[in-house]
Amino acid sequence: MSKTYHITLLPGDGIGPEVVAETRKTLETLAPLFDLTFDFSEQLIGGIAIDETGSPLPEATLQACKQADAVLLGAVGGPKWSDPAAAVRPEQGLLAIRKELGLYANLRPVKIFPQLIAASSLRPDVLAGVDMLVVRELTGGVYFGPRQEGEQEAYDTMLYTRPEIERVVRVAARAARGRRGKLTSVDKANVLASSRLWRQTVVRLMAEEFPDVELEHLLVDATTMHLIRRPADFDVIVSGNLFGDILTDEAAMLAGSMGMLPSASLGDGKAGLFEPIHGSAPDIAGQGIANPLATILSAAMLLRHSLGEEDAARAIETAVERALDAGYRTPDLANTTLPDQTIEVVGTQAMGEIVRSYLGD
Ligand code: NAD
Repeated sequence: MSKTYHITLLPGDGIGPEVVAETRKTLETLAPLFDLTFDFSEQLIGGIAIDETGSPLPEATLQACKQADAVLLGAVGGPKWSDPAAAVRPEQGLLAIRKELGLYANLRPVKIFPQLIAASSLRPDVLAGVDMLVVRELTGGVYFGPRQEGEQEAYDTMLYTRPEIERVVRVAARAARGRRGKLTSVDKANVLASSRLWRQTVVRLMAEEFPDVELEHLLVDATTMHLIRRPADFDVIVSGNLFGDILTDEAAMLAGSMGMLPSASLGDGKAGLFEPIHGSAPDIAGQGIANPLATILSAAMLLRHSLGEEDAARAIETAVERALDAGYRTPDLANTTLPDQTIEVVGTQAMGEIVRSYLGD
């Protein structure tokens, strides 16, 4: 009997609805091939939710997300709602949904598609073989510690507890086990007390629970250099909220294009939130030229991490690779051809259709 999964879709603003529509169609095409049934519920979040309900995260959206097996988000925000003095802002919806769902681990895989190697500002020989996963702690650290803001003095506090460190390191170590078996823990233990607790906790947890996973420690400043000098050496990187925020953006730029990178935010249960790393791209919204591949690849992560449907996840990833192999590119990737490549530039819908045509082949 076919398995039924409940997926809440949050298209959001800007290009969000365009890329989520292609992803929904991709999951619908995939379903019969793997004997799955998807029950979709589309809900409001972000700017459009403010316009229609006054809240960036309406109660109906929150309930639908809590009941779902997984949530797929497009993007939120745009110039219409960007007044910093406004009482409600689209990004509040995103922060609130992560908090409400208890999503403390943010996973960003960075894989260099050989077909797109010219999209990066780094040399192809440095990028060859890059395939890493950056795991960022998402709900603790200096972004959430005690703070005070005055005219002459202000402070933020980088506060971590042992359980907060342990739970995110477990997510990263489990991921490493399913990959090349190596974990790099990033901290600033030579200066920060919270980093020393981080390092001690990692050492103890890994020895007790993951002795089979190779562990290395790097200081965050050194990591920024190694990411550029020897990116292919990394398998899984785990770090706190602030360091992870910076490292995930640096790692993303190895791939060159915002339109290709998926992400997952996970908590204790299986349900997670999956979204492209890019924003709502208001400059190209409504033109039918947004790259849907980051969102389609986010659906592959959803199948893998929340639904345990590894074969279906792989089918999506293979279909994306085949579309790139065949030379299809959305305009954001059009200027990244290698001299011996012939490409065809296509829009959002056509790219979605091409990926779907390779599913199940
Ligand atoms: P952005 O990621 O939206 O766009 C940056 C550049 O990349 C733009 O030139 C855009 O056209 C391009 N781009 C992004 N995604 C693309 C895609 N799929 N295909 C082709 N080109 C793509 O970042 P920004 O311009 O800094 O932010 C725009 C809005 O998005 C802001 O309101 C910001 O707050 C919001 N934002 C939301 C999220 C989120 O929802 N998670 C993340 C980042 C930014």
